[in-house]
Amino acid sequence: MSKNYIKSLTFKELEEYCKEAGFPKFRAEQIFRQIYFSGANSFDDMKLITQDIKTKLKEDFEYNSFTETKKFISIDKSVKFLFTLQDGNKIEAVYMPWFSDDDEDKMERTTLCVSSQIGCALDCKFCATGTMDLKRNLETHEIVSQVLEVEKEIGEKITNIVYMGMGEPMLNYKNVVNSIKILSDLKFPKIARKKITVSTSGVIPKIYKLADLEKPVKLALSLHATTNGVRDKIVPLNQKSNISELMDAIEFYYRKTNLPITYEYIPFENLNDTDDDAKRLAKISKRVPSRINLIPFNDISFTKPEGIAAELKATSKEEIQRFYTQIRNYGGVVTVRDTFGSDIDAACGQLALSDKES
Ligand code: SF4
Repeated sequence: MSKNYIKSLTFKELEEYCKEAGFPKFRAEQIFRQIYFSGANSFDDMKLITQDIKTKLKEDFEYNSFTETKKFISIDKSVKFLFTLQDGNKIEAVYMPWFSDDDEDKMERTTLCVSSQIGCALDCKFCATGTMDLKRNLETHEIVSQVLEVEKEIGEKITNIVYMGMGEPMLNYKNVVNSIKILSDLKFPKIARKKITVSTSGVIPKIYKLADLEKPVKLALSLHATTNGVRDKIVPLNQKSNISELMDAIEFYYRKTNLPITYEYIPFENLNDTDDDAKRLAKISKRVPSRINLIPFNDISFTKPEGIAAELKATSKEEIQRFYTQIRNYGGVVTVRDTFGSDIDAACGQLALSDKES
């Protein structure tokens, strides 16, 4: 039988393991701290842990999730990471530093966009990952390790995480939630729960389920259309439900967690960027406290798109500004998202293992 990975264990599970193995109780905390706060690279690298405990841990667990890490650095200082997993599959994560408006050398926060699956089955028409088939879900340790590896490579602490990389996190629910429990453990949080955002294209039953987390995380919905006719075309998952059912789930999430919702919206020329869309979008967003994030469409021509995907055209910068103003005039809270890493195919929707080296 293959061994489990120690980074798949929540703190509670690690405590149980230590108890069964006959280690003193305080060892669980020491081991957890060595992995998540001291940056140990292996069991042998752990400080304060006795040799016999290290030997037992090595017998029972694997440590490292990746065999190789490659970095692609953008002119805007974001970094795309390409990780090779133990089975040879590859995944991507994108590091984004945010600097102060007053002092461009002062970093205010760091966000890591993590992957939850290898490929994706949902085939959103504007997304490069959607052109890949789903190969498999990521294991908990493969999600958690993205954060640890990036911190080690960059030498900075990650302050915010968005589950917005490759894959639909709600379709790998168990491992995604376990990774959240590990990274924002209730006793030893590495990252605050309110700094974690799960982004979904609208897996309704899991939105209801996620609302039950003991400590909730933020939710973002990839909306991208204000009518079912358009959403059915560009987010095919919508064909299984509709926007109205989705909004009921979103309202439930807000009422349960009291956390504002983010709506992600890519404006496409002559498709979803009209004055009527602005009006409907503002109306949708006012149902519960929320913010609309307008995301400029990033080129995915390297995936050789077909059908409607090939017809999608980015709304121009000026027209996005017009759409933004219309939404505001209708009472919506809206921002236009900064685009990171488009020169290295790391921007939103561009993750598809393209091998452009910087
Ligand atoms: S946007 Fe998300 S859910 Fe849709 S295809 Fe891309 S990775 Fe999958």
